Amino acid sequence: MKKLLLPIILIFNLILVQPSYADINACKLVHLAQDPPGYIQTTGVGFPKHPDRLSATGTITWQILFVSYPDVPPKSKTKNLYKELIPDFKDYYEKSSNNKLKFKFNVYWNWITLPNPVSSYQSAETNLMEGDRWIKEVVALADGVVDFSKSDALLLLSNPDAYSFGKAWPYTAHPGTPFIAADGKQFKNATVITWANNLPQSMVLIHEAGHNFGFIDHRDFVGEYSPMGPTFPLNELLGWEKWNAGWISDKKIECINSSKQITLNPVSDKNGKLAIVPLSSTEAIVIELRKKQRFDEYLTQPGVIVYKVDSTIKTGEGAIIVLNGQNPVKKKKSVTYKNVNVKVLDKNKVSITIS
Ligand SMILES: [Zn+2]
Repeated sequence: MKKLLLPIILIFNLILVQPSYADINACKLVHLAQDPPGYIQTTGVGFPKHPDRLSATGTITWQILFVSYPDVPPKSKTKNLYKELIPDFKDYYEKSSNNKLKFKFNVYWNWITLPNPVSSYQSAETNLMEGDRWIKEVVALADGVVDFSKSDALLLLSNPDAYSFGKAWPYTAHPGTPFIAADGKQFKNATVITWANNLPQSMVLIHEAGHNFGFIDHRDFVGEYSPMGPTFPLNELLGWEKWNAGWISDKKIECINSSKQITLNPVSDKNGKLAIVPLSSTEAIVIELRKKQRFDEYLTQPGVIVYKVDSTIKTGEGAIIVLNGQNPVKKKKSVTYKNVNVKVLDKNKVSITIS
């Protein structure tokens, strides 16, 4: 009898410990989004990130230039504009990355005055080629007085009094487009801030520079759950975006391939947990807990959110969609996508059923 019991116990144990976790690589969706011809803002949400975007870990040095026009003398002091933008920008990215990303700034404090009146640059707002030309003209003018060789990216701040000049935009070059060259460096990433709207410009900068790191536009697909959507005030980036950027370790990812219950925590917490159910090599369901903390302090709808990620979809077209009408899933309620059902059992407990 004893001889029989041992194998039975072993079999029973094997059933109990049947792994419900997939290899982490099954959750790293393959990057497949095609770049639109000519120019791109950024590419998709898969792994690896586009090699021409800035590394989202390590130290990035920004060269700051202040740009004006002969017909609009600047009333602002460049030091004040710096104070208005840069401390919040630095704080947001350094904290969001759990200090995996650090910013340094090289600043040329004098205004660089372009040769033509502001009205002659207006097409830079709507035409990407003209926008790039504007950046190149600024860099060419500054080249005599600025050493670009020690910077990784450009941050160009246009005179706030030149109201009629364009909206903010990111410059994201890729192999099909010319890079901006100066002092032996090829700049593939830049952000232009123009004070063209009434939003706090530090928030605009956080969004636009996000594209330089490879974050894509979510438009209305993710509600208030990422600054890469249109919502203000600013909130935390999605857990998926942080993982994709290399800001949270694989240890915080529960890559699941069979039904189970899970306790979630915001990914920035020490005990943070993000649940991911891969549906294919390019599609996954992500389950994340968002609390009113840090940059989510002003979140109007904290709770468990469930979103689908599709790495074949381009910027602005719904590569990430928060399900359940962009609302958190309430306690005892569930959301289903394809063969995955996510039921919220408690504040931070969910039951994931894969059929
Ligand atoms: Zn954008």
